[in-house]
Amino acid sequence: MTGYTLGGGVGWFSRTYGLASDSVRAIDIVDADGEPGRVSAESDPELFWALRGGGGDFAMVTALELQLYPVPALYGGRVIWPEHRTRQVYEAFLEITAEAPRELSVWINRLHPPGAPPLVTLDLAYLGEAAQGQDLLARGRCDTRQAGRGRSRPGGLHQRPQAVHPAVPR
Ligand SMILES: Cc1cc2nc3c(=O)[nH]c(=O)nc-3n(C[C@H](O)[C@H](O)[C@H](O)COP(=O)(O)OP(=O)(O)OC[C@H]3O[C@@H](n4cnc5c(N)ncnc54)[C@H](O)[C@@H]3O)c2cc1C
Repeated sequence: MTGYTLGGGVGWFSRTYGLASDSVRAIDIVDADGEPGRVSAESDPELFWALRGGGGDFAMVTALELQLYPVPALYGGRVIWPEHRTRQVYEAFLEITAEAPRELSVWINRLHPPGAPPLVTLDLAYLGEAAQGQDLLARGRCDTRQAGRGRSRPGGLHQRPQAVHPAVPR
């Protein structure tokens, strides 16, 4: 979480709420002299700016204070096809994203798990009700109905593995 936020952080809701670093309100640090401190836009604008996207080069971060957002409804999930559907899925990706509202994020991946056939996936996240999400996805001419998870929890949305696993996204 800290490395992700210090590096900027592109998340499922970035099209609506910006980078993770845009939602940082204050940062607790230990500086190069070993001195603890709390950095905000008011206390130290330059260091606050550098920490939010500049990575770990400026101080040791011990805590982040983040702006949170309500998510009353969330629709999405990962849809997986075999490799031979790649062209069709790319075309659907373009059709869906050409005029997508900021509440919809769609990421396309090609995966090649060791010892298994290659795959193509769409990762979908819509900040809204399932019916509206389905209408937006229907613009793409490939079946995305498997995406439906209704009020998904963001953590489980795309089955992000909790431990090391063999597939490498490219
Ligand atoms: C499978 C996978 C999926 C990913 N998906 C996304 C994604 O969707 N969006 C996205 O934006 N990025 C994504 N990333 C990239 C991810 O944001 C970066 O790898 C991020 O740096 C991870 O943070 P970390 O704390 O685990 O990494 P680390 O390698 O531990 O840290 C990254 C950097 O932050 C510094 N750092 C970490 N903790 C501190 C601290 N407490 N104080 C000071 N410096 C610190 C480190 O020194 C280093 O420079 C993904 C990476 C992987 C491997």
